[in-house]
Amino acid sequence: MPFPPPPANLEWATLSGLQETPDNGHIEVKFSVKTGEWTTPALVRSPMLQIHGLSPALNYGQQAYEGLRCHRDPNGNILLFRLADHARRMATSCGFVAIPAVPEYLFIQCVRLAVAANAEYVAPHGVAAALYIRPVIFGSSAQVPMLPADEYTFCVYTQPFPAYHGVNAIPACIVDGFDRAAPQGTGRAKIGGNYAPTIPWMLKARQEGFAITLHLDSKTQSVVEEFSTSAFIGVKCDGRNVTLVMPDSNNIVPSVTSDSCAVLATSLGWVVEKRPVPYSELGLFQEVIAAGTAACLVGIASISYKQQVFNYAGKGPNGVNGHAEAKMTNGNGHGVAQDTGFSPRETLNKMLKNIQDGNADDPFGWIEQARPVDEILPGMIRR
Ligand SMILES: *Cc1c(COP(=O)(O)O)cnc(C)c1O
Repeated sequence: MPFPPPPANLEWATLSGLQETPDNGHIEVKFSVKTGEWTTPALVRSPMLQIHGLSPALNYGQQAYEGLRCHRDPNGNILLFRLADHARRMATSCGFVAIPAVPEYLFIQCVRLAVAANAEYVAPHGVAAALYIRPVIFGSSAQVPMLPADEYTFCVYTQPFPAYHGVNAIPACIVDGFDRAAPQGTGRAKIGGNYAPTIPWMLKARQEGFAITLHLDSKTQSVVEEFSTSAFIGVKCDGRNVTLVMPDSNNIVPSVTSDSCAVLATSLGWVVEKRPVPYSELGLFQEVIAAGTAACLVGIASISYKQQVFNYAGKGPNGVNGHAEAKMTNGNGHGVAQDTGFSPRETLNKMLKNIQDGNADDPFGWIEQARPVDEILPGMIRR
């Protein structure tokens, strides 16, 4: 094993993702519009950044980010998941806010370096924690007129993060009174401007007892788009015949997790439908899944909107949440309460985790093994 072992004093079980955690630094690169060049990646010890107070990042939200994670396999190797897909999505996000696209090779190199430099913070195999990886780019030069910056800073941070194994199904509500993404807006980009305005609505929902918020399309308020931080997957079961329904919309972030589910489901012979999902279909699903890198596949217990409640997950035979079971209130023959003990969400979650944790083969070429810094960028600058 080429990497140091995890520090003995790190209590993986108490990680919340909210506190500041130890690390060995982040990777930093700058882009100059004048020269058209990206600097060589450096490992910077301090997490604090120097940024001009008049930068477009701070004033106009000229910024984009990504989220990935990595795990250890049974031999202690560190596995990275679908790097190129995240690289391409970040390049797309950059385009929405006039940021020069981070080249795919550079994105991948910086993520590899950040992981290699922080390898001991990747939890041991079998521990319910992951190393979360946060690439972020922003316009960092002073520029008061509303024009793009002349200098950009691209960073890759890492943070040990709890992995929610077997999380209970959670109640969701549809946001009523706020539109996340305009019909011709920026909804498909992972840019800060899509997130901050949603925070008050997430807080309001939380105060009302909802753990997660779901958005309908802004134009007609009749089509399901996505959760505030993750993708929507509806599951229909007829015995063991499973159909996954995934919203097809220009205004949602294309989810790598959701795409992975589609590939896995297809490999199982399940049907995958990518198409607009009318609100009126919510009563026809046996399971609803929130899919995203941070939380993996979370079961949705119920979706509330105005006076309506759709219930999904129920207690399985062993008190396990999230089994294919729909309440009679869902109307229509599909929603007959009948717990078969079979949960497509659990099946997909296990398959995905087994690939990510190196417990299973990687037939789709999603995994790459982390290598030491010197194999990626010999003599990397550290400051
Ligand atoms: C990041 C994100 C997702 C999930 O994308 P993954 O690639 O699966 O992590 C879905 N919706 C929103 C709004 C997001 O920000």
